[in-house]
Order: sequence, then structure tokens, then C-alpha cells
Amino acid sequence: MKNSFNLPQNKKKRVVIIGAGFAGLKLARKLINSPFQVVVMDKQNFHQFQPLFYQVATSGIEPSSISFPVRKIFQKHSNLHFRQTELLNIDHEQKYVITSNGPLSYDYLVIATGVTTNYFGSDNLEKYGLPMKTTAEAINLRNRILSSFEKAILTDDADKQSKLMSVVVVGGGPTGVELSGAIAEMRRYVLPKDYPELDFSRMKIYLYEASDRLLNGMSVEAGNKALYFLKELGVEVHLKTPIVDYNGDKVSLPDNKVKYARNLLWTAGVKGRFINGIPNEFWMRSGRIKVDSFNQLEGLHNVYAIGDISCISDDTEFENGHPQVAQVAIQQADNLARNILKGNKKKFKYKDKGSLATIGRNMAVADLPGVKFSGVFAWFLWLFVHLMAIVGVKNRFFIFVNWAQSYFSRDQSLRVLIQPYIRKKSV
Ligand SMILES: Cc1cc2nc3c(=O)[nH]c(=O)nc-3n(C[C@H](O)[C@H](O)[C@H](O)COP(=O)(O)OP(=O)(O)OC[C@H]3O[C@@H](n4cnc5c(N)ncnc54)[C@H](O)[C@@H]3O)c2cc1C
Repeated sequence: MKNSFNLPQNKKKRVVIIGAGFAGLKLARKLINSPFQVVVMDKQNFHQFQPLFYQVATSGIEPSSISFPVRKIFQKHSNLHFRQTELLNIDHEQKYVITSNGPLSYDYLVIATGVTTNYFGSDNLEKYGLPMKTTAEAINLRNRILSSFEKAILTDDADKQSKLMSVVVVGGGPTGVELSGAIAEMRRYVLPKDYPELDFSRMKIYLYEASDRLLNGMSVEAGNKALYFLKELGVEVHLKTPIVDYNGDKVSLPDNKVKYARNLLWTAGVKGRFINGIPNEFWMRSGRIKVDSFNQLEGLHNVYAIGDISCISDDTEFENGHPQVAQVAIQQADNLARNILKGNKKKFKYKDKGSLATIGRNMAVADLPGVKFSGVFAWFLWLFVHLMAIVGVKNRFFIFVNWAQSYFSRDQSLRVLIQPYIRKKSV
């Protein structure tokens, strides 16, 4: 097969990794200076730190601080290669992938493509809801929130103002909780200073969750405390309330109730992206790929899936699959690297280091092995853990400076509305 990627020709076995997220990047790093030729492919040329998307969306940090060019990581390692391209198809019998830039053969294939937003089949929510699964979507959210206020100040119609200023967040997981808390803090400390002519009693923040509690992946205590913190910040939280429909203006709720808001932020579900060529029996209902305890697609030679897209189906401790979090992705990559390098088969065993979620300034919840706590200490721990997890010293420094500045000034300085350039049609 023609090699369409301008890769060095040698006798090294080739490991093709699709996706430069937490899982793919960790695996590539573990294979530095190994006897393999490692080719990482991603449709973007940067790694994105998803846990801080909500701060980009609420003008807290620059998008560039949570993005890291993949090539910079690969610079000094001659066996690592990056190609910006999109995986379209795999042929596991002939052992090659087909990408938007042509085919490439592999000896080992590792799928680490993560997940995307799940609208559960609702065309309207997909059309009008605002997702936050990529840096571009987080920037879009920031622009939508800011431009709504720019429009609200141009009208003196109270209903129109209320619709433009109000925000509906759907999904009471960590992302929904963190987003609604951050928006509530903008309402309290920042926006009234920018828009003194607006009446902020018209700005409502609603959080809707279909189940009976917040933070389902964490302890009941953490969920209850998050609810308490959000109420303190003035967020109207509605549990056991699935959204029925949304038309861009009107949110339809159970029992024929309605709310009006121009911005509905959808954080209620994820699903795996379908990949052509992976046989149907591997696809689970959640869109995840079924793998064994070695992260291998059983029966397919040297094809693996790691991270959010994968689901180990035979771990009795995690019957519905491991949680879709960064630590699982990183630990699976670590285990797979060891297996590929040593040629042995060590089963993946997840070491749960605990979970954290932040709601606002001095308000966070922590479930650590053997201890649960909340408040100021949990918040500082959240800041520290996230700062240390960011890729790149420069990014870490800029985020630290941003956080320190916002902590003392109770302000964010990044409320800029930069729209993508669209070329005007020539006349
Ligand atoms: C808003 C938000 C907040 C989160 N907060 C936390 C948190 O606080 N703590 C935590 O532990 N986890 C958190 N998570 C989850 C965490 O980010 C994921 O578990 C983690 O990113 C999974 O890593 P991954 O490598 O499997 O996938 P990802 O990191 O999603 O990486 C997948 C990569 O694959 C690329 N890709 C996808 N399809 C293709 C294709 N066809 N061709 C080429 N490239 C492709 C994508 O561009 C992407 O770079 C959060 C997630 C989100 C969205």
C-alpha cells in the first residue's frame, strides 16, 4: 500500500494512535525512544484540557492556556510522528486505516477518539442547544453569552431582556454544576459592572437535571453540598426535571411548564463517535467500544481502544464500564504501553484517586479515598490538582496568574467577543 504520510521508511513496527487526548497522548509519551514507529493522528493539531472548558466559556481563562500543540511534545523524539488528519475507516483484516488524507498501514492500532455530545435523538436540542465538548464550542459559548448581553442592553423590552440574559443549563454532572456556578459568579461580581443599565433581577440561571440528585458520579454528600452551594449563588436547580423540547427561545418542561431563554447549555450526555470498519458486535448502546481487560477488541489482531470511547465489559467492579474521566484514560494508556513494550498481558485495574468538583469561589466538593469534604480546602485542592494536570509550564503559569488576578479582583479580564472571520462574497 502507498505510504501517503511522508513517514521515514524503516523496519520498525508501526503503532498508529488515533486521538491526542488524555489517553492517546499518554500512550505516545510512554512509547518515546521505544523500538516502535509511533504515529499519532488527530483532526486538531493541539491537545485540549477539557476540565477547564467551562472557564473559557465564562471568560475566566484564555483558550490558548488550555490548548497545547502536539508537535511541541514530539519535537525531540525521532520515533514519534504527528499527522493532523481525521480517521474515516479502518480495515482490520488488511491492517490499515483510511483517513481524510489517505490510507496508512499499522502493526498496532489504538483508538482513543473520546466521545462527543449526545442529544438523545432530539433534532431541536442538537440545533439550538449549545454543547461544550471542544475548545471551539467553549469559545462559541463565551461569544453567545457576551453577545446576548450586548443585545440585551440595546432594548428596553423587559421580556426580551430577560430572555437574552437568562441561561438554562441542562445536566447536573460536574460540567453542568461548574458552568452554572461560574455563570452565577459572573452575575454576582462581573456583569453588573459591565452593564450597569441592566436590571439583573431579570437574569435567571436554571439548572435542570433528570435524576433526583446532582453529581451522580460522586457521593450523595457531594451532590447535596453542590446543591446547597448553587442555591447560595442563586441558581434555580430543578431535579427530576428532564427537558422535553427547546426551540431556541422556549424551553418545554414536564407538565406543560415553560421557561424562556436564548441560551441553553447542553451538558446532559455523551456518546462515542461511530467508526466505520469496527464490526457491529463491538458497539455498545452508549456508543462505546467493547474491549477486554487488556483494552483489546477481542478477536481483532492488535486493535485496541482506550479512554472514554472504550468500555471494559468484564470488570465486575464496574459493570457499566469505568467512569469517563481523565484518570481512567491515563491509566489505561499506561497499562497498554507496558503491554505493548513488554509483549505481555497485564489486565487493566483502575486505581480511583478520588473526584473533585468546583461550584464557585471557596466552594468545592471532594470525594477522596476514605474521606469526603467540601468548602475552602476542597476548592484549593481542586485548583492545585487542575493546575498540575495542565500540559505545559507556560500554560500552568498563565492560568495561575489569571486565577490569582480573578481571586483578588473578583473580575475576569477576558470578556472579548472575537468572531471567526467569514469572507464576504465578492461582488
Ligand atoms: C467539559 C468537560 C469537563 C470535564 N471535566 C473533567 C474533570 O474535571 N475531571 C476528569 O477527570 N475528567 C473530566 N472530563 C472528562 C475528560 O476530559 C475525559 O475523560 C478525557 O478527555 C478522555 O480522554 P480521551 O483521550 O479518551 O478523549 P479526548 O480527551 O476527548 O481526546 C480525543 C481526541 O480524539 C480526537 N478525535 C476524535 N475523533 C477523531 C477522528 N475521527 N480522527 C482523528 N482524531 C479524532 C479529538 O480531536 C480529541 O483530540 C471532562 C470532560 C468535559 C467535556
